[in-house]
Amino acid sequence: MNTPAQHDTALAFSHLPLPASTQANLAQLGYERMTPVQAASLPAALSGRDLIVQAPTGSGKTAAFGLALLNRLDPAVWQVQALVLCPTRELADQVCAELRRLARAAGNVKILSLCGGATMKPQRESLAHGAHIVVGTPGRLMDHLERGTLLLGALNTLVFDEADRMLDMGFFDDMVTVVKQCPPQRQTLLYSATYPEGIAALAARFLREPKSITVAAVATPTAESATGTIRQIAFEVAESERLHAVATLLNHYRPASTLAFCNTKQQCRDLVDVLTAQGFVALALHGDLEQRERDQVLIRFAQRSVSVLVATDVAARGLDIEQLEAVINVEVTPDAEVHVHRIGRTGRAGHDGLALSLASMDEMGRIGRIELAQGAEFTWQKLADLKPAPGGPLRPAMATLQILGGRKEKIRPGDVLGACTGEAGFAASQIGKIKVTEFHTYVGVVAEIADEAVRRLGAGQLKGRKVKLRKLDDVVR
Ligand code: AMP
Repeated sequence: MNTPAQHDTALAFSHLPLPASTQANLAQLGYERMTPVQAASLPAALSGRDLIVQAPTGSGKTAAFGLALLNRLDPAVWQVQALVLCPTRELADQVCAELRRLARAAGNVKILSLCGGATMKPQRESLAHGAHIVVGTPGRLMDHLERGTLLLGALNTLVFDEADRMLDMGFFDDMVTVVKQCPPQRQTLLYSATYPEGIAALAARFLREPKSITVAAVATPTAESATGTIRQIAFEVAESERLHAVATLLNHYRPASTLAFCNTKQQCRDLVDVLTAQGFVALALHGDLEQRERDQVLIRFAQRSVSVLVATDVAARGLDIEQLEAVINVEVTPDAEVHVHRIGRTGRAGHDGLALSLASMDEMGRIGRIELAQGAEFTWQKLADLKPAPGGPLRPAMATLQILGGRKEKIRPGDVLGACTGEAGFAASQIGKIKVTEFHTYVGVVAEIADEAVRRLGAGQLKGRKVKLRKLDDVVR
């Protein structure tokens, strides 16, 4: 058996054939040792082999393929050399952010995100300026290929990220169309949390003698962000009480941020109605929302001005939410894998998680299958034993202000922070996350100062223009 010291050395990035500048960048990023998925896949990936990797989100898989594709990249060649296919824009944005961190060592590397929901023209213009790496969703990539705005002749690395999710979302045909335009001489890396039949079909068609790698447990990227434990508690519920039972759980546990999963869009809407009527700040995320509405919901949840996000599984795909205190299964899902995926969203980054499930008598069979799949039993408690904490529903600590003007007006987060802490006279500690989208800028502020902030910022200027802004209401649907 390895001693801990030997074990540590084996996981050092210095064992990999990576340039000194990359090694230094990894050290600067605080990546001291490889995560299991990186240790298992990087040597083969760097040697140019095709891979099928089964690894969950949060395992460090982006760096696992990112280091491989960057290692082969020539920044002097202004052509697309690597393409990453992702199921959602949120995931694509995350992948871009991680690739940019990793690419700092490689000089001037242009990384472009091409996803549906955004306007085509700026994407076409960015492509015309040249890009080395493209990250995007299959449908939009296909659009660009059809119009001839995206050329893949110089591509040498193709990555499928969360391939199973892309299949679930009906992207198979689009993926095939995109892959057919990639040169046959290339490395293909396929990442997927599960390995359904469709993935096998995809791999058989587009990968060459792939090596299969499975990393079962969620990895621990850094010592500080060790995966916390997830407390799983189930409650028996009558069908007629289900939605009110969610409020009972929220009033008892008082989590600051909760993701509540429903099985249907209608259930999402109904639950938001019930929670809103009781004084919670809850928003729904489902497939019927337009991209801009979806962005707004996610920004508000990330800024913590909304404490409950009610979502279907499909809508929640690719969401990466840090610090989620609780996940509530409003209904038990018939798919044990989906359950594991749902609850894996809490208990991240070293925090303990809380996964609460409401189960009617009809759903007991599902519970049994989940227990088998996860190799652990649920703890059962009675809803009647839960007491609401005093003080009524927990109000969000933050509020979100929406400023008219965004990237189009060249607004940057620093400008907004400057306006808040300068002329308006607020402390930086009263300002939370700032998110700039194409046409709007969203600022998280401590709830108590929200109205005053609207007044003071509205009286001032931003980028030489009068600021138009409003506080986003608690009740938005
Ligand atoms: P991912 O699974 O790619 O989304 O990565 C999860 C998180 O782990 C990201 O925030 C990465 O920046 C971080 N990460 C990836 N590799 C390492 C590593 N070797 N050491 C520390 N953190 C890492």
